[in-house]
Amino acid sequence: MSPFDKDHFTDMDGQPIDDSPEPLACPFCGGGAENLVVERWSEEDDPEASYHVECLKCGCNGRCNGRCNGPQAATQLEAAEGWNGRSG
Ligand SMILES: [Zn+2]
Repeated sequence: MSPFDKDHFTDMDGQPIDDSPEPLACPFCGGGAENLVVERWSEEDDPEASYHVECLKCGCNGRCNGRCNGPQAATQLEAAEGWNGRSG
């Protein structure tokens, strides 16, 4: 088992996402990088490519329209940057 890469966001398969920044901790539960994954809604849920970061520890994700989490994004990298870049 390879050590978890805390320097990058990871996708649902646990693969580091190229060029993604070091994940900031979850603002809701303090979960660190190991709890954060970039997910894509299923095509049934959303036919458009739509990525967001989800915290596996507290379950917050982009479903509540930005109220509780990072924005939806067109690419994994944008979702990762959106998670880190959201303000207040
Ligand atoms: Zn959390």
